[in-house]
Amino acid sequence: TKWVYTFAKGKAEGRADMKELLGGKGANLAQMSNLGIPVPAGFTITTEVCTHFYDNGRTYPDDLKEQVMAALTEIEGHMDARFGDPKKPLLVSVRSGARASMPGMMDTVLNLGLNDETVEGLAHASGDARFAYDSYRRFIQMYSDVVLGVDHYIFEELLEYLKDEKDYTLDTDLTGEDWKELCVQFKDKVREELDEEFPQDPGAQLWGAVGAVFKSWMNARANTYRILHNIPAEWGTAVNIQAMVFGNMGENCATGVCFSRNPSTGDNHFYGEYLVNAQGEDVVAGIRTPQPLTLLEKEESRSSLPAMEELMPDTYRELVQYRDQLEAHYKDMQDMEFTIQEGKLWMLQTRVGKRTTKAALKIAVDMCHEGLISREEAVMRLDPRSLDQLLHPTLDPDAPRDVMSQGLPASPGAATGRIVFSAEDAESWVKRKEEVILVRTETSPEDIGGMHVAQGILTTRGGMTSHAAVVARGMGTPCVSGAGDLKVDHRAKTLTSFNGKVLVEGDVITIDGSNGQVMAGTVPTIQPELSGDFSKLMEWVDEIRTMGVRTNAETPHDAEMARSFGAEGIGLCRTEHMFFDSARINYVREMILADNEEKRREALADILPFQRQDFEDLFEIMEGLPVTIRLLDPPLHEFLPHSERDMALVAEVAGMSVEHVKERASEMAEQNPMLGHRGCRLGITYPEIYEMQTRAIFEAACNVTKRGGKPVVPEIMIPLVAMKAELDRLKEVVDKTAHEVCQGEGIEIDFIVGTMIELPRAALRAGDIAQTAEFFSFGTNDLTQTTFGLSRDDAGKFLRVYQERGVIEVDPFVSIDQDGVGELVQMGCERGRATRPDIKLGICGEHGGDPASIAFFNRIGLNYVSCSPFRVPIARLAAAQAAI
Ligand code: ADP
Ligand code: MG
Ligand code: MG
Repeated sequence: TKWVYTFAKGKAEGRADMKELLGGKGANLAQMSNLGIPVPAGFTITTEVCTHFYDNGRTYPDDLKEQVMAALTEIEGHMDARFGDPKKPLLVSVRSGARASMPGMMDTVLNLGLNDETVEGLAHASGDARFAYDSYRRFIQMYSDVVLGVDHYIFEELLEYLKDEKDYTLDTDLTGEDWKELCVQFKDKVREELDEEFPQDPGAQLWGAVGAVFKSWMNARANTYRILHNIPAEWGTAVNIQAMVFGNMGENCATGVCFSRNPSTGDNHFYGEYLVNAQGEDVVAGIRTPQPLTLLEKEESRSSLPAMEELMPDTYRELVQYRDQLEAHYKDMQDMEFTIQEGKLWMLQTRVGKRTTKAALKIAVDMCHEGLISREEAVMRLDPRSLDQLLHPTLDPDAPRDVMSQGLPASPGAATGRIVFSAEDAESWVKRKEEVILVRTETSPEDIGGMHVAQGILTTRGGMTSHAAVVARGMGTPCVSGAGDLKVDHRAKTLTSFNGKVLVEGDVITIDGSNGQVMAGTVPTIQPELSGDFSKLMEWVDEIRTMGVRTNAETPHDAEMARSFGAEGIGLCRTEHMFFDSARINYVREMILADNEEKRREALADILPFQRQDFEDLFEIMEGLPVTIRLLDPPLHEFLPHSERDMALVAEVAGMSVEHVKERASEMAEQNPMLGHRGCRLGITYPEIYEMQTRAIFEAACNVTKRGGKPVVPEIMIPLVAMKAELDRLKEVVDKTAHEVCQGEGIEIDFIVGTMIELPRAALRAGDIAQTAEFFSFGTNDLTQTTFGLSRDDAGKFLRVYQERGVIEVDPFVSIDQDGVGELVQMGCERGRATRPDIKLGICGEHGGDPASIAFFNRIGLNYVSCSPFRVPIARLAAAQAAI
């Protein structure tokens, strides 16, 4: 097997499209060489060697050594220097390089091949002892740190002592002799720490570094990074070994990094930083202030340091030429590293540059206009999830932050407000026109009112799929969850940070739902601008996609926002959310507590006008677009009062004793409410509830029509159906009530009746159910729970462990389990269509806003996905990408 691929200017054995084998860095070094761009000669050890290493008890293939030695000999030929030669030593860098760039893996080792002998040779050959010993001490420090595991600060301390002793302020004050002395100290330190000599044999150094790269693939930091970014462990990393070039040999030397366009604004301006007489990572390490690359940047940053454009104009022009060449080749913004050794420019890395979402948009749209990429390519360039950043106000990145805690980025966006510790307080403070952040240990469904009015939500327990996180994302409210180092005392109404800082009710905090930070006080925000680039790209998106995108919404505010984000109707209006409002909750409770149908009907009659108004509002906002309304779904006891005060209140309204209220409440308690008396089971046992809701829908539709509004098409949806017989009965209730209302009003309203498919039995019997149902909406939240036999509210604890241990790759509540739950959805679609070819098929679970799930839904031919308002643009983009 070929384990090693060489590269040098003008030719290489690899190519840009060989990332899987050579890693990103290796493939691009090869490609630059092929393009004739000057790259120091080198070679890449493939990712297959990494796989072999782990499959075979951390050993290498037998013939690897031979291939590495042959490749090393080739470099020696190109550089006219020999590895380990005491007179004219070849030095190399050893660089890790996975397919995707991965912080957390081994850092690069520079100047490898130096030892007590070769350093003399380097000093002699370069005529510069200072440079040689500076390089040697860098090598000892880096190698000891990344390969031998000796902390680098130990070496930095020694350097500081020496500078103190000699009364130096800058590193550049040190002489060759000083560096030489420091090298001795460094080696002594290594011996002291490890009980071993610093390796002097260049071959041993080389294999030590190669082994360290492979081992770093499985270190804890890399593992965590892979889990967070869904990078499979099987990929492995490559190792790049490359002749050193030196930016630290004098004033005609430099090193720098640059971007082919501005990575924060996306402007088509060359952009970068460099340092004269410096090596490798000095630029990013912040030891010295880097200088601007271009005159434009110099002007913008009001830097007094000379720009490369003026200091080294010829080399600068050459660099611009490579920038143009690389951008034209990769057709994307490039992030490049370069080093100038005695006036000669060398390119050391190129890769697709990271950028802000704003820049990504501008670059994609610009490149399409420049004719560099097609519309489809432009649309593919954006990560749908990143659009979130554009929709929420964000914290001013330049403002100072007093960070109190780091939680999970549960729902993006920034929010500032006064802290309150209960949903009730949130509501009452907001009534007084205060802006609040609701702080809870965890939230539960009864907090919904407070969550709705809060600017932001902070919890100290719970993960990314906790109640708080899911609801907050749904509402587009910023949320930080699981800020475990904060202590909440609900009684005392205090929030205590790990270092003992105590905040009381009414104190101001700021949360950043995009990175999980919690700050004391106010941090200024900047408002999003949905700029021309955004609308342009979304225009292309809508031309390309074939699947519809609707929203889950029940309030006028959400519905309006969703339309402004491009929703094409409502795919899920959860009527129970309309019951929680404080003005009606007592009627709802009265209805639930009623002992008989008559009393229930009385209470329902009180609720009817509220529901009707809700629907009128929604219908008007949606202006004739389809609106899917789900009849009541949750177990009734969820609406019951919990506190003594609420119980007393309900008792009064319902005209019963508090004891009786308590009794009814405990009667209704269920062992397993998720599988209990809920969904269509309520409609079967208490048809009057669905009757009232249907009446409200049709009266609203008639009213809107009478006022001359666009004709609405209600789609009435029955939840939790398992059997056709359930749907048959309830469709009868709906049809009959609709008919009564319409006849009474003398208005004809088009409507359809359908069902959620959220139980495995319903998916299996979809063919049968489709005889009655005119549409299906897959409720993938419940379908995931019931297919896995997993309760979402309890799964957080162990699903995280499942993920860490690699039992599952992604949380099935976040991204649909395509193999299992997905198969049920697909089967449901096929069987439904077989019975009723024109059946409308959609999905309204959390998965409707997840790009990977959307790609799946597109593939199996759903007509639309429905998601929370803030995810509508994400879903539009993901649907377009799925269609390409
Ligand atoms: P990272 O992935 O962290 O950027 P790199 O492997 O790119 O790590 O290297 C770190 C630094 O060392 C970069 O500034 C790079 O330009 C520099 N460097 C790497 N190899 C060489 C080399 N052969 N000659 C000179 N500088 C090098
Ligand atoms: Mg790099
Ligand atoms: Mg459901």
